[in-house]
Amino acid sequence: MAEDSFRALPSVDRVLGDERLRGAPAALALDITRETIDAARALVRAGSPPPAYDAIVAGVRTRIDAALEPPLRPLVNATGVILHTNLGRAPLADEAVEAMAAVSRGYGNLEFDMASGRRGSRHGILEPLLCRLTGAEAAMAVNNNASGVLLALSALAAGRDVVLSRGELVEIGGGFRIPDVMRLSRARLVEVGTTNRTRIADFAAAVGERTAALVRVHASNFRIVGFTESPSIEDVGALARERGVVLIDDIGSGCLLDTTRYGLAPEPTPRRSLAAGAGVVLFSGDKLLGGPQAGLIVGRRPLVERMKRHPLARAVRLDKASIAGLAATLRLYLAGVAEERVPVWRMIAMPREAVAARAQGLAAAIGERASVIDGRSMVGGGSLPEESLPTALVVLAPPRGVGASGLAARLRARDVIARVEAARVLLDLRTVDPRDDGAVVRSCIDALSGERA
Ligand SMILES: *Cc1c(COP(=O)(O)O)cnc(C)c1O
Repeated sequence: MAEDSFRALPSVDRVLGDERLRGAPAALALDITRETIDAARALVRAGSPPPAYDAIVAGVRTRIDAALEPPLRPLVNATGVILHTNLGRAPLADEAVEAMAAVSRGYGNLEFDMASGRRGSRHGILEPLLCRLTGAEAAMAVNNNASGVLLALSALAAGRDVVLSRGELVEIGGGFRIPDVMRLSRARLVEVGTTNRTRIADFAAAVGERTAALVRVHASNFRIVGFTESPSIEDVGALARERGVVLIDDIGSGCLLDTTRYGLAPEPTPRRSLAAGAGVVLFSGDKLLGGPQAGLIVGRRPLVERMKRHPLARAVRLDKASIAGLAATLRLYLAGVAEERVPVWRMIAMPREAVAARAQGLAAAIGERASVIDGRSMVGGGSLPEESLPTALVVLAPPRGVGASGLAARLRARDVIARVEAARVLLDLRTVDPRDDGAVVRSCIDALSGERA
């Protein structure tokens, strides 16, 4: 009986020769056919009847097509979370995308001095822009801010003490915990103060012979409220200067514009930290800066030079496409057009009325199942927790028997990511590129009607 069942399974050659697999890449088709027949054999061994020949071929075809699909694809972010970590954080300015494509397609003066024709340094490309925008003496860029923090501690504090408030011993996300990074860098962590209250006197009492640095870490993704106290960057900077130790300030977001102009809480800026006496300021390229993934480092020249020379700098260096994208993004700030050209800031600056007008237009085009209500957009990305912007939301009422999560799944199948709240599907157009509005309307109409994606 079992013998017969095994014999009923097709040979690899027979499946490969089937006309339904015509045009499939040979090596991939062979791999997947073997896997599929092996799986069928295991089923038979477990006592199941052998799958039909047609089902095996169809399964092989589906798996080949799935393997050839692009695994990372563009989506419409209708969640209203501007820096959505799971959806890739900052969308880039057209200028940045074009600069990245241009330098990726061919060659560029990445490490080449155009005047002498000799070898140059990749750090030289972003440094003048970063210095001009932040008032720093020196600057460099690495792969991301987490690696920037590791590099700063390794280059400036290995084997010595660093003093940090207990209120800032944070986990940023993705398992990036400050105490673990300290251990990895071989800097010795000296904790001061308490979770909710740390005073400048706590820092002062902890500084000694072995102290290399005072460290501040922006509590990006949470807020402690109530009975709290922490010294200002100016007080910590003054103490660092007075005692001859370095202040390393991880400000997280890399905010170069004034958030209070948009009704948001103030965010620390690199310029303020440097002016307060920070020796090194660290921030991300793809949070509020609105550029590609990177860790940006600005500060005093001798410190930044030490970081550039450290072996880790080579391990965490930035690639040419990201350097080109960052340079293009920073130039928009320099030109004074960041609010109009950098998508993160365009989204933050977009008035509620502008979102509402688009939402009304979309709801009318979608039909009777769509309406508009007031809501809030989030900045996200570990910046400005608890902070939100007034917005207008398109509400989709799910058809009978589908439910809100079912409707959201149908939208996901059309690459539109919506919010589900209180059994309703909500779309916030603040985070949708207006060029995608037409596609969103079609996706909503199809999802509501149950048309296959
Ligand atoms: C986000 C963040 C990091 C990590 O930055 P990445 O660019 O994601 O590596 C580190 N420190 C702070 C304070 C942050 O907010």
